[in-house]
Amino acid sequence: MKFGSIYEEYLRAEQDKYLAKCSHVEYKRLKKVLKRCRLDRSLQADGTNSDQQEDRSDDSSDACDCNSCTLCDQMFFTELTKEASDIAGYFSTRVQHLLNLHVPSGLQRYIWRVRQCFIDDQQIMVQEGRLLINYVTMNAIAIRKILKKYDKVHGSVSGRDFRSKMQTEHTELLQSPWLIELGAFHLNCDSSDIDEPVGFFKNGFFKNFSCDLAGTQPVMTMAISETMKYDYSLTCPICLDTIFNPYALSCGHLFCKGCACGAASVYIFQGVRSAPPEAKCPVCREVGVFAHAVHMNELDLLIKTRCKDYWRCRLREERAEMVKQSKEYWESQAMLSMGI
Ligand SMILES: [Zn+2]
Ligand SMILES: [Zn+2]
Ligand SMILES: [Zn+2]
Repeated sequence: MKFGSIYEEYLRAEQDKYLAKCSHVEYKRLKKVLKRCRLDRSLQADGTNSDQQEDRSDDSSDACDCNSCTLCDQMFFTELTKEASDIAGYFSTRVQHLLNLHVPSGLQRYIWRVRQCFIDDQQIMVQEGRLLINYVTMNAIAIRKILKKYDKVHGSVSGRDFRSKMQTEHTELLQSPWLIELGAFHLNCDSSDIDEPVGFFKNGFFKNFSCDLAGTQPVMTMAISETMKYDYSLTCPICLDTIFNPYALSCGHLFCKGCACGAASVYIFQGVRSAPPEAKCPVCREVGVFAHAVHMNELDLLIKTRCKDYWRCRLREERAEMVKQSKEYWESQAMLSMGI
């Protein structure tokens, strides 16, 4: 089956579910725009456009020689940009809401455990997680496919450029750290044991998540279809070890808490978010990415349960470092107050 039909079917199935009200990529309509554009171009190429194309011939002739098409562009890239950012925004809000329920802290967790029938709730949460994963992967694939079509119709690389722009601007949906969190959640729940209502998930491409934390390159893999998979590296770019106490900066890059604090020259006990605004991401050099850094609870839990010894060892190291840093901090404060 062609992607267009699968996607339409997916949207139809979503219509009466809770994802109905949120943004989706208007794949069908964008495809029509491309079709009309192609028609215009072929007519023009045949030299038969003089009479029939009076309303669009200006646009089309502009488009022929340069790398962008005025006929498509207005709607095309502006619309895709808006859709992608709406989808990313909605996705992160929903995932945060879902996962806050899963790893609440302290008293909240206690009240929650007492109040809820845990297994039933977990099942509902896993189902909701799958819906969200399907939501984001279906839309991400729709964007990729339509950009490829754009390039094919126009013989351009604008679609490809747009995709790299999305990557640098962190609107590429599959790069979302929230997807990694959902993947970790999926693995933490060991959802293979959870029964799925028949037919409930037959729409959408998402198959499963798996992880390999034992190898030299710890990785989490999302299988989208039989042939498509997406790897997420779980190596911290600073200590080059499996990520520990992980934080995602707003650019999407992941680091151990201690490594991120070190890179931003703040003490671990002050926290990643206390980094000065001019601190740069050690990977992409973007500024202002520390203020809204998020702790990846599910990923932390995954590593804690699957690499117990490693996790404990890193915890000991982190605590020792914190003690050392606090001592340093108070000594410096004391010196300051004594005017030394
Ligand atoms: Zn065009
Ligand atoms: Zn690290
Ligand atoms: Zn970054």
